[in-house]
Amino acid sequence: MISAEQLRQYFYCPRKIYWRDIARLPHITPLLMKKGADLHHAKEKRNYQYANALKTHREVYLSDTELNLKGIADIIIEYKGFLKVAEIKLSLPTPIPKGYIAQLAALGILAERQFNKPVTHLVFLSDHEEELPYSEKIRSEVMQAIQEVNALYKNGLLPQKTPITSRCEYCEYKKICR
Ligand code: SF4
Repeated sequence: MISAEQLRQYFYCPRKIYWRDIARLPHITPLLMKKGADLHHAKEKRNYQYANALKTHREVYLSDTELNLKGIADIIIEYKGFLKVAEIKLSLPTPIPKGYIAQLAALGILAERQFNKPVTHLVFLSDHEEELPYSEKIRSEVMQAIQEVNALYKNGLLPQKTPITSRCEYCEYKKICR
């Protein structure tokens, strides 16, 4: 199954998941990501509370065989027959990167199917909180990307580079990516 995290990478650059997950080139976890994981555990240990939650689920494994998609939602909040899906981040850039939103929207698609309730908002929790409406536009963009990533796994062909060439500067695959 493909993962919601792979969708985040796909929105950053379609080639990244090709090198990492299809060609299976070794990669180094950036220090910032390790710190993010540490922070995640620290917050879990402190039993991070989300204000005003009526019913809160934490670390929810979500999957759907029809979409061939899986992911883990940090927090799912149920309220009045609706859902909000939340992600804890070490830091939150402004504007929020599209990949972050796509990853959370993918979890929203899975949550809707698993809980059989509509998602109204995507929430990022960091040193500050940002709540985005779960729009039909982002939902359909992510549904399209789910199909594209599944097709990428099937055909195994090298996808196009990101058109934003400045991203290559910070990419661990820049030496082999031509
Ligand atoms: S080097 Fe650039 S094009 Fe290649 S995978 Fe990295 S971000 Fe994508």
